[in-house]
Amino acid sequence: MAKKYVYSFGGGKADGNESMKNLLGGKGANLAEMAGHPNLRLPVPPGFTLTTEVCTYYYQNKKKYPAELKAEVNKAMSKVEAIMGKKFGDTVNPLLVSVRSGARKSMPGMMETILNTGLTEKTIPGLVKQTGNERFVYDAYRRLIMMYSDVVMEKAAGIEPEHDEGIRKQLEKIMGVMKKEKNVTNDTDLNAEDLKKLCVLFKAKIKETLKTEFPDDPYAQLWGGISAVFASWNGKRAISYRRIEGIPDEWGTAVNVQSMVFGNMGDDSATGVAFTRNPGNGERNFYGEYLVNAQGEDVVAGIRTPAPINAYSQSDHNKALVTLEKCMPVCYKQLDDIQKRLEKHYHDMQDIEFTIEKGKLFMLQCRIGKRNGPAAVRMAVDMVKEKLTTPENAVSRVTPAQLDELLHPIIDPKAELATKPITKGLPAGPGGAAGMIVFSAADAVAWAKEGKKVILVREETNPEDVEGMRVAEAILTARGGMTSHAALVARGWGKCCIVGCGDMHVEGKTIKVGGKILKEGEWITLNGTKGTVYEGQLKMIDASSENQVLNDFLKICDKFRTLKIRTNADTPDDANKARQFGAEGIGLFRTEHMFYGKGGEQPLFILRKMIISKSVEERRKALAELFPFAKSDIKGTMEAMKGFATTIRLLDPPLHEFVPREAKARAELAAALGISAEEFAKRADALHESNPMMGHRGVRLGVTYPEVSEMQVRAILEAAAELTKAGVKVEPEIMIPVVCTVKELSDQLELFKRIHDEVAKKYGVKKIPHMFGTMIEIPRAALTANKIAEVAQFFSFGTNDLTQMTFGFSRDDIGGFLPDYLNKGILPEDPFQSIDQEGVGELIDIGIKRGRSTKKDLKVGICGEHGGEPKSIDFCHRVGMNYVSCSPFRVPIARLAAAQAALRNKPAAKKAKKGKK
Ligand code: PEP
Ligand code: MG
Repeated sequence: MAKKYVYSFGGGKADGNESMKNLLGGKGANLAEMAGHPNLRLPVPPGFTLTTEVCTYYYQNKKKYPAELKAEVNKAMSKVEAIMGKKFGDTVNPLLVSVRSGARKSMPGMMETILNTGLTEKTIPGLVKQTGNERFVYDAYRRLIMMYSDVVMEKAAGIEPEHDEGIRKQLEKIMGVMKKEKNVTNDTDLNAEDLKKLCVLFKAKIKETLKTEFPDDPYAQLWGGISAVFASWNGKRAISYRRIEGIPDEWGTAVNVQSMVFGNMGDDSATGVAFTRNPGNGERNFYGEYLVNAQGEDVVAGIRTPAPINAYSQSDHNKALVTLEKCMPVCYKQLDDIQKRLEKHYHDMQDIEFTIEKGKLFMLQCRIGKRNGPAAVRMAVDMVKEKLTTPENAVSRVTPAQLDELLHPIIDPKAELATKPITKGLPAGPGGAAGMIVFSAADAVAWAKEGKKVILVREETNPEDVEGMRVAEAILTARGGMTSHAALVARGWGKCCIVGCGDMHVEGKTIKVGGKILKEGEWITLNGTKGTVYEGQLKMIDASSENQVLNDFLKICDKFRTLKIRTNADTPDDANKARQFGAEGIGLFRTEHMFYGKGGEQPLFILRKMIISKSVEERRKALAELFPFAKSDIKGTMEAMKGFATTIRLLDPPLHEFVPREAKARAELAAALGISAEEFAKRADALHESNPMMGHRGVRLGVTYPEVSEMQVRAILEAAAELTKAGVKVEPEIMIPVVCTVKELSDQLELFKRIHDEVAKKYGVKKIPHMFGTMIEIPRAALTANKIAEVAQFFSFGTNDLTQMTFGFSRDDIGGFLPDYLNKGILPEDPFQSIDQEGVGELIDIGIKRGRSTKKDLKVGICGEHGGEPKSIDFCHRVGMNYVSCSPFRVPIARLAAAQAALRNKPAAKKAKKGKK
């Protein structure tokens, strides 16, 4: 059968359906579903979709269309004409259509739209007669001319306007002059005669500037529009957006041609955008905005402040405006009924666009609604409770980045209370952010590159601003509603954002607000949850206190994951925090960390004494002093873990890192050791290494100074013995770092056994619970894992060092060249953030397989930074690790990522059984 390029919808029927997003784009597939599905059959204006395959064909064939396309379009147009009882290009009862883009994944505002296509000198009189409203028709005509000349005749034709004065700007100027002459401020104050004149002036300007006539043939307009939408797939801003969102270039966009319905036909007409639940906090309430007597673009463009659709959608900002529920109760009721059906049908929150034409409701679009992190988590939990969706779906709908938003900083409430906001707008994106003011997307990008924190302040944003919005800490706009461009994009990215600060005026590179003037580079702080803006840089704190909804959601995640989640923690405080987040043990306790931070001064002093000691006796004396500190820290942390395993790593970093540099500290140490300053300097110099990361560190210390290992092992085992006696279940895992050969491990195991027996005797027990294992962080260790597993009871992959040693990139110095590597595409991403699965990952896979070839049940985990990164967690799941370990704040993300990894990698047979829902 010949390929079908055009799919019709309308009149209770549709050729396509929701499952055909790849072919029809998201918008086209949903229009088909809304129009044709037996459960819905909603009032959708009829139309047709040119598939994404037409787009692909167009780009593969020098911007030509398949031969059969024209006939298919004509046939589909006839169907629309039959349903509407109007004809495209007819002089008596003309049909007008919109031409819109629609990619597989929504790209808000990134591609083009043409409305009112089909209005020509010949069709205008017919439409005037049909509508009895000459002003409306000429307003529609001037809008078509403006849009078409800008999108089709200039942008799609690749014309670069002179002095950045595009045709649209020039036409707007003409309109501005006319308004001035007539002494009016609103477009709506221009009458039919004015608009008629304006259209003539517009067309003359277009001819003068673009050297071509505005087309007066309906089909020429239609094909011009279609081509412009396809061309906009490769427009600058669409390409930028695709890069940021990771949308492949080859997907292409579909084009939807749909009969026009008008929200601007008077006070019985309106247009709006709504969500079946609140996208800002997830509450199960119909939420939206609308404008009377307006076209859809007016709502999204954020030029007029939209009114709330119902009392629930009211805010300080719009509460004076009449709700749709009050203004048009019959249509509201119908809309409310439709939104309920849509959510039930799609099993998820929907974002819908509607238009009311002379009291008649039409559904223009529905799609899965974008939501911020708190809303995503709440909806997931609620929808499972309501049995609207399955727990599997609920888990896969929340992205790790969205969950991160719940753990994001907020302004310290105390700091916030102590100051007054300078302005208030709509809370479009939650959390707090502080940054320096910049006024253009380009400046935002440039400043962020210099490492500065910026807040992008704009009158209103437009799609050209996306790159600047991306790098900014937050976005602040003077105009626009909750569904304006800035709000929509920020919500998608979970960024702090405030829109519609009505009393803020952006003038050049200054903000004027309440008698204050703020300039570029000055600091401001935003509370995106409340919509308040403050002068200066307020203190931020983390918002991750007990959150019931988050806990409920994570419990759902826990049902699916097979990976255990541990944490990297070195103090009882951190261990407690991690437990609250749901950590199931400690995967890495870095013993050296206890010498820094709270209460670390005294043990650090003793440790330094130990390092600078020359003889074993001196060293043993210092170690004996250090012992109680080590034991009490380890004991407190194991106690906090309440029966979960605690992996304690023996001392790792190069000793010279601990030698003080300041003269005073050096003198104090020398005095404590009873040596001269010269002697001290001599001993300190002797510790110097050219390449300390590959020097005297890790197990090498334990081999040359066994007394250091002995002290630590004794501290761990005594702590464990005492806790066991006190009835606390403990599971210490002694971990040896930087091992490259099994012999190093055997050496330390022998030492360990000796101390174990001594401590067991001291406490009168046979065995103190423990495991003895190693880190795998040197390629040689991974390659010889079968031998290492003869001695080790567990492996923990130290992927920080393993990445360093596999690439030969210093983990401390990569910053010097990484940006160039990323820009040139030599590396796809920073391998210290996300596991390089091709190289480092191969070593991990080999390490696990070889290790388990010796010990079938070898316990394996990861404790490098990658343990909290979602893509790496997916990898850890696939290679069969038992657990991942990450910093306390990443534990919730790891729980979600591990659940998603389990669902994503579920055996195909099981997946099929679960069904589609
Ligand atoms: C590692 O190398 O991955 C690791 C966890 O150890 P450290 O970062 O302390 O070297
Ligand atoms: Mg390491």
